Amino acid sequence: MARERIYFDNAATSWPKPPCVVEAVQHHLTQLGACAGRSGYREANEVERLIGDARKQIAYLFGTHSLEHVIFGHNGTDMLNLGLHGILKRGDHVVTTTIEHNSILRPLSFLKKHLEIDVTYVPPGEDGRVDPATIGEAIRPGTRLIAITHVSNVTGAIQPVEAIYQIAKDRGVRMLVDAAQSAGHLELNLSETPIDMVAFSGHKGLLGPLGTGAMILQPSIVPELQSRRQGGTGTKSEQDEQPEELPAKFESGNANAPGLLGLRAGVEYIREQTVTALHRHTMQCTAQLLEGMQTLPKVRIFGPENLEHRVGVVSIQVDAFDPHELATALDSAFGIQCRAGLHCAPMTHQHLGTIGSGGTLRFSLGIFNTLPQIERTLEALRTILK
Ligand code: PMP
Repeated sequence: MARERIYFDNAATSWPKPPCVVEAVQHHLTQLGACAGRSGYREANEVERLIGDARKQIAYLFGTHSLEHVIFGHNGTDMLNLGLHGILKRGDHVVTTTIEHNSILRPLSFLKKHLEIDVTYVPPGEDGRVDPATIGEAIRPGTRLIAITHVSNVTGAIQPVEAIYQIAKDRGVRMLVDAAQSAGHLELNLSETPIDMVAFSGHKGLLGPLGTGAMILQPSIVPELQSRRQGGTGTKSEQDEQPEELPAKFESGNANAPGLLGLRAGVEYIREQTVTALHRHTMQCTAQLLEGMQTLPKVRIFGPENLEHRVGVVSIQVDAFDPHELATALDSAFGIQCRAGLHCAPMTHQHLGTIGSGGTLRFSLGIFNTLPQIERTLEALRTILK
């Protein structure tokens, strides 16, 4: 009999996926089988229609209606690279923070070296949240972009991106938000807060398969944003240059059709259940986990104390325990799966003081975790830490 997995690695990729996602992927693999936007037979048209509907589901989830401004790619990293490489020019100044994932930090390091851009790294406050005023103070003549995550993938701290957007708008600076850890978990209404570029994974909170990512663009940034990949789009094939139309400008080569059909089903599922209801459930489990952990000896919990300022990502360190050893013990003895290490966010650990001690042990909750699973996890931790 397969042992029960208690999966707490949803910040890496969500699991399990709802049955409708599995069925949608299977439907493509077994029935449709075709590429999108290339051919005119029935199945190809159906794939094209469903991918168009995936754009619609995502646009509506974020409160917008312009489907062509939803761009698909391989993952969150791919979309962030498009945003950063596509907008920055030689000598530009960028304001970012020390809580970013390597998918922002590394492209910026590359651009520092190759395009001589200059980067200011703003630290968060004690609770892991960045004060918008500190972002404003870092803006100077030549600042082209603010690049910030919506939620830290280490501490779960929610960043005030709406307030930061107001500053960006007032100061005439473009803004890129990494919504990898917030998409599907938190509402972000882009009609009210039209952030220039919002990039995210399709395979985390949006419940799609691995190999999917998306970015929502504001129309005004499109002419300034260069494509990063050129190639076949199935449109204007007689032309030797990349078409300027959306989404073709940024989508070359065959799309991951099974993945995007799965993503379409995942987002539809979220919209039916509502982000608010799903998040309420995840946070109920998170609250119970945090409460139980506070009673454990030698455990240090990171991130905001105020539950309203965090999502279901809980990072801890335990005195005298290596986070990797703890992760292995939880998995091998109890089937409890979480992640140890730096979680690709090294500067966050410099700030937390955990860089030299193996990082943190991270429990990232998803919509399918349950209160009994939390109880079993706390029991397992009590047993190991005895
Ligand atoms: N940003 C953040 C905050 C993340 O947590 C992650 C994934 N760990 C990414 C970006 C990269 O997303 P992907 O794995 O889809 O490339």
